[in-house]
Amino acid sequence: MNGAEADGRRAAGEFQERLDAVLARIERAARRAGRDPGAVTLVAASKTVPVERVLEAVACGCRIFGENRVQEALGKIDALKSEAGIEWHFIGPLQPNKVRHAIGRFALLHAVDRLEVAERLDRAARERGITQRVLLEVNVSGETTKHGFSPVDLAGAAERMGALAGVRVLGLMTIPPLADKPEDARPHFRRLRELAAQVEALGIPGVSMKELSMGMSGDFDVAIEEGATMVRVGTALFGPRPVR
Ligand SMILES: *Cc1c(COP(=O)(O)O)cnc(C)c1O
Repeated sequence: MNGAEADGRRAAGEFQERLDAVLARIERAARRAGRDPGAVTLVAASKTVPVERVLEAVACGCRIFGENRVQEALGKIDALKSEAGIEWHFIGPLQPNKVRHAIGRFALLHAVDRLEVAERLDRAARERGITQRVLLEVNVSGETTKHGFSPVDLAGAAERMGALAGVRVLGLMTIPPLADKPEDARPHFRRLRELAAQVEALGIPGVSMKELSMGMSGDFDVAIEEGATMVRVGTALFGPRPVR
């Protein structure tokens, strides 16, 4: 084994340890809430993580990766296209001018934050004869710097999107305000779950509220207790990211 190989093995071992710790946290949080841990999907937030390290994660059993820049993501998708069973999610807000590059390349877009994006996705998807699965990002906290639909606009937006044949709404996503303690995020996660229940109760054709994408490295335990079905975890799996 040469030096690079030894480094590679050490890194893979570290990844496995971090993955085991994250899976244990998911399991404990689900059990605390009386939920099935299998009902929580781990999305490994692999933005900024180079292809070789994503491959380590694949070797350890990770299957779903979340990216937030289209060009970076497409490079990784192409580089890993021979790996079977990998699913790519887009977890950042999608710029309207990136819709044509992104359409059909991601199993799920987590953060559709305005109607214009949904309408563009719809057109591009129908041209290709596909349906794009999406979640709606909700600005639960009302911070002006945050993306997402405001809670009061959500039902109307969902109704408009239900009418778009090229787009299938599967649920909601949110990012709570930066906080010192994970507990601070709990009311925001709970609110997202309540909003999903309200929209679900409207019975809008073509709109499901089954998925709740909420929780990141620091607070996904709390999110799972509040009903998260997808957690987006970067740092706790891959270590600190370079600032960009
Ligand atoms: C980067 C990112 C995450 C992961 O954040 P960590 O704190 O590193 O786990 C989750 N969601 C979105 C939208 C992100 O961009």
